[in-house]
Formats: sequence, structure tokens, C-alpha cells
Amino acid sequence: MTCQTSSAPRTIAFIGAGNMASAIFGGMIEAGYPASHIIATARSRETLDALEQRYGVNTTHDNADAVSRADVVVLGVKPQMMHDVCQALTPAVQAKKPLIVSVAAGITCESLERWLGGDLAVIRCMPNTPSLVGVGASGLFATPQVTDEQRALMDDMLTAVGIVEWVEEEGLLEAVTGVSGSGPAYFFLFIESLEAAGIELGLSAETARRLAIQTARGAAEMAFTSEHEPAELRRRVCSPNGTTERAVNSFENDDLRDIVARAAKASSVRAAEMA
Ligand code: NAP
Repeated sequence: MTCQTSSAPRTIAFIGAGNMASAIFGGMIEAGYPASHIIATARSRETLDALEQRYGVNTTHDNADAVSRADVVVLGVKPQMMHDVCQALTPAVQAKKPLIVSVAAGITCESLERWLGGDLAVIRCMPNTPSLVGVGASGLFATPQVTDEQRALMDDMLTAVGIVEWVEEEGLLEAVTGVSGSGPAYFFLFIESLEAAGIELGLSAETARRLAIQTARGAAEMAFTSEHEPAELRRRVCSPNGTTERAVNSFENDDLRDIVARAAKASSVRAAEMA
């Protein structure tokens, strides 16, 4: 992994190196990015020691010091902490003018830029939890100040933990939240439901769970690798008057499509409320 456009790799500070931030830099390091160019911050010594041991990154409690050494600052603290963390960082950010990247749900580029003193290139990213296992899906929005080089750097960083989709309007990150940000939970719920159905049909809990999980995994892998779209894959496994067709018709009669659309909309409406 290059993550560089000049002779040296960029130094990237992760402010609030919890689950999401460490998933991202863990993936980057695995893809070949030098740990020596990553600075991670957190509150507790315990978190920092664990990050040092596991990834070999530089760590500090001092957020402003990390920013003063960085070309890119990734803000990974919880949304409710973002305002205070940003305000404390304003002098260091204004002195250095790094690219600002936020993974926090619901905090707008306009708020981030204002809290950090203005006139900054800002990228907002909506990742999802499968980034923790390298199969994430991230939606990104960039303000006009972001350069092509900075976009390319983000592509490099995030493709280390999954796929990247850029949206051209910030409001579309709410749609991204409704589809992929909240999406893993929809599939967990489906797996839970299929497991429960298997138990009701007489399988042991363990067998029902293993079959449900592996089926979800296999279907996702087929959809990911196939040249056919999901609708075609579905049609191909529905023999006329067969078992699968009977089950799929049951879903259609119960309006699964509408149930899914309403759930995704509920998530995106909540994302808009948080912004
Ligand atoms: P997390 O594991 O709790 O990580 C937050 C980290 O911030 C912790 O390591 C914490 O340090 C650190 N921190 C708190 N206050 C700090 C401060 N003042 N200075 C420096 N570090 C500080 O949370 P997460 O799940 O990674 O979520 C982080 C962000 O990702 C959130 O904004 C969330 O909206 C976004 N996000 C998460 C997901 C997800 O699925 N997890 C998906 C999309 C977006 P200590 O460990 O020392 O307490």
C-alpha cells in the first residue's frame, strides 16, 4: 500500500483510536502501510499500550501533539465528544491545516470545520462494522477544498478494510447510513430469524445457527463474485413450483421489500435527526 503521492508516506493521526479507527489503521498496516507513520490517541494508558503492542503504532494522550505531526487527522471519538475534542484541537489544526476526516455518525462537515476554526479540507466517512474483519463498506463525502490527491489517499486507506463509495452530496450519507452503516444489523436479524425458524422446524440450536450463518455467507459471496445481479441469482435458484420458490413467494406476499425499505428509511431519518 502506498498512501503517498510524494516521496514519503503521509503521517496520519487517529484521534480516538477505538474500534473503528483501529480497524482502519490495522487494515492499512496489514496492506503494507508503515506503522511508524501512524499516531493513535486515546484516553486510557491501557488502550494505548494495547495498540502499541498489537500494531506497533506511535501513541500519545496528547491529541494536539498528534495533530501537530500529522498530514491527515482522522477523528474517531464518539459523536457526543466531538465538539469538545475539536475545540481543544483548533490551534494545532489551524497551525498545520491537515486533511480532516471524521467517521462520526451525524456530524456535518460544516460543524467540524466551524469547531476546528474554519478554512479546512474535510472528508466525512460513514464506515460499517465489518471493517473490523476487512469486509467493510464506507460511504464518503468530500468538501470542495479536498484535493484529488487527498481523495486518492482516502481511497487507499479505506480500501484496506473494504469498499469505498463517494457521494456527491453530503445528505446522501444518510442514505449510506440506511443501507450499509446500519445494514450489518439487518443481516444479523435475518440470520437470527432463520436460526429460530430452523429450531422451530426441529433442528438443534447449534445446527440451525451454523446453517443460517454459512448460508448468509455463501449467498453474500455468490452475490459478490457472480457476473449476475442478485435478482438473477434468486431467479436461478427458484425452480418452478419448487421449495425455494414457495419460500420466496411467501416473502413477496408478506411484502419483504416494503419492510426493508421502511427500515432503511427509518435509519436514514434518524441519521438526519442527528446531523
Ligand atoms: P470506541 O471504540 O468507543 O472508540 C472511541 C475511542 O475514543 C476510545 O478509544 C476512547 O479512548 C477514545 N477517546 C475518547 N475521548 C477521547 C479524547 N478526549 N481524546 C482522545 N481519544 C478519546 O468507539 P467506535 O465504535 O470506534 O466509534 C467511534 C466513532 O466511529 C463514532 O463517532 C461512531 O459514530 C463512528 N462509527 C462507528 C461505527 C461502528 O460500527 N463502530 C460505524 C460507523 C461509524 P479510551 O479507549 O481510552 O476510552
